[in-house]
Amino acid sequence: MASLPVLVLNSGSSSIKFSIYEAGDGQRTKLHEGAVDGIGTDLGTFWIKDAEGRKLVDETPALPNRAVAFKLVVDALHSSDFPAPAAIGHRVVCGGPTVKENQLITPQLIDEIDSYAALAPLHTPIAVYIMRESLSLFPGIPNFAILDTYFHRTMPEVVTHMPIPEEYSAMGVRRYGYHGISYESIVYQLEPNVPEKLIVAHLGNGASISAIRNGQCLDTSMGLTPTGGIISGSRTGDIDPGVLLFILHKIAETASSATEAADRLEIVVSKKSGLLGVSELSNDMRDLRDAIKDGNAKARLAVDKFTWTIARWIGSYVAELNGLDMLVFTGGIGENDIAGRAEICAGLGALGIVLDPVRNNVRGEAVISAENSPVTVRVIPPAEDLMIVNHVVRLLGK
Ligand code: ADP
Repeated sequence: MASLPVLVLNSGSSSIKFSIYEAGDGQRTKLHEGAVDGIGTDLGTFWIKDAEGRKLVDETPALPNRAVAFKLVVDALHSSDFPAPAAIGHRVVCGGPTVKENQLITPQLIDEIDSYAALAPLHTPIAVYIMRESLSLFPGIPNFAILDTYFHRTMPEVVTHMPIPEEYSAMGVRRYGYHGISYESIVYQLEPNVPEKLIVAHLGNGASISAIRNGQCLDTSMGLTPTGGIISGSRTGDIDPGVLLFILHKIAETASSATEAADRLEIVVSKKSGLLGVSELSNDMRDLRDAIKDGNAKARLAVDKFTWTIARWIGSYVAELNGLDMLVFTGGIGENDIAGRAEICAGLGALGIVLDPVRNNVRGEAVISAENSPVTVRVIPPAEDLMIVNHVVRLLGK
């Protein structure tokens, strides 16, 4: 295949990130990356960098809504400073129960993904909007949906099925799993030596962990939504359902409608809980580490809950995999929080996980386990955009 510029679009609730790759037979070169951030505010940021990190665009526009934000990106990309994309890959967080394969985007496919927006209300509406706009603003250019749920399609039914009445299961309520493109990118980076029994912990603002056998997902901590699983920046993770009912009853005392009560509960479990809720300070691990140095007990408790949950999850996945060959840390916390990796692994010696404190004193790609550790422990940054480009190239070849 001749080399082609591929645009990757990754939309979130308050930002749109993008990158442009030159992709041909076995060749992938990142040319540019950029983002608009702060959607819904008067003072957003909009930047584009080249491969050497030089800023070609660096603005602080008002970003009242996603339409203004996406128009800025499209107008910039239509200028002669950037190669016109030959194909576009969209990161789509959740395809629902029927859209399981990465594929060419058509108006019908967007409608189908949209029909399951209630399953991922914080992620699907923006992705649907960007896909629709992209079809009309880049006419004639193939757009592909690359799903975060795709990697998890190999999970067995005993893992995906939820213990709820069948009528809700039939509506698509099941475990989907997220961060799939990140997990795939870790497996891709380990090829051709992918260990049989692998656990990957993706620890970023959102955090999850997966058990992977022979490169295929066996289990993952996030469930119907990215709010499930291990606690993260501002999300509860898995929680006793009775807690949700208790909070819902409290909210209902002052809510004017059931919908308002449900929306307020959503904000509590997705935006006000996790590290932020426990610390009452921040959802950002760097802030919490600084506060711990100053003796802040709530920050200490928040971080302890985080590392304790992850250690427990690793233990259960070792049982599920019936052993472990390799543990990989990835994501902003996984790559940079040296103390966090040490705290998570401190009590896992009996599972064969032994860190080398000197090797662990590192940010970014490294082997951090002790020489004699039965399990190899590594830090590997995710390569999500590259993975999306790989899928786009494969689909273009079909
Ligand atoms: P997202 O899920 O938004 O992609 P990232 O993967 O960028 O998030 O991870 C963000 C998290 O990484 C934040 O909690 C941040 O504090 C943490 N982080 C980044 N650098 C460091 C560092 N040097 N030490 C500890 N935590 C860090």
